[in-house]
Amino acid sequence: MLPASSSLVHRRSVGDASIVQLSDGAVRHGPAQAFFGLNADVASFEAVSQASNLSSDVFDFPATATLIETDNERVLIDAGHGFRNRPSAGQLMNALEEAGVQPETISHVVLTHLHCDHVGGLLDESGRPIFINASHRVSPLEHAYWTGLGSNTSVGLVVQNLVKALGRKLTFIAPGEELVQGVSVVDSAGHTPGHLCVLVESKGDRLLVAGDLANHPIWAITRPNWHMSLDVDPVKAACSRCKILGWLADEKVPMAGYHMPFPALGTIERDAENFRYVPEVS
Ligand SMILES: [Zn+2]
Repeated sequence: MLPASSSLVHRRSVGDASIVQLSDGAVRHGPAQAFFGLNADVASFEAVSQASNLSSDVFDFPATATLIETDNERVLIDAGHGFRNRPSAGQLMNALEEAGVQPETISHVVLTHLHCDHVGGLLDESGRPIFINASHRVSPLEHAYWTGLGSNTSVGLVVQNLVKALGRKLTFIAPGEELVQGVSVVDSAGHTPGHLCVLVESKGDRLLVAGDLANHPIWAITRPNWHMSLDVDPVKAACSRCKILGWLADEKVPMAGYHMPFPALGTIERDAENFRYVPEVS
């Protein structure tokens, strides 16, 4: 029997489905206000950071992919940084090995969006697909946006190579569509034009795999209207963040947040005008 939790793997259930949180490691960035709170003044950003004992110089940006296991399917949500960011990140393959999951047994990969820290782990160092038996699903809007940029941006170039390598393994999924029973995708555009969250439902139990809806427990969740440098449309991103965080709080649906501290599971509570992230006890 595998342990419920280790350095790279954490398990919980949602009804009959099993959720496996797979750490991809972390990347160090800084200064923090080059990424978060772009529309906040320096004093406010410092005050919010200090109140939570956060350094605004450097911060570790963790990444955690989610595997949903049902009776018949294994659905991986996002795939980490891949080999380019090793050794601090790009640990998904080690996490899968620790979880006892062979990449060829994954039946579907859902991409919340096409940023490099979510798709880098789809191809090996030779550019070949790793999840060889999986359908890879992305929003048509997301696909159109990044392929439309061609090789003019670093993300566009990565996407161009990815689309070529995946070929017919890459197909679309639109908001509201159910991928397999109990696993559907939800529109959360803003961070990127076709950003998707993934809702898991089983036996009245629910969990939202939120991707990059909110990328920090303090700088994004307690201040959902703060803009982030990686948001393609920061105003729309803030709108999606407020709307969906409000829904999670009101419906008491927990979330898996890709950039939350591992195991990246928590609940959202309303806090005056804003929200609070409460990590799930492991
Ligand atoms: Zn990300």
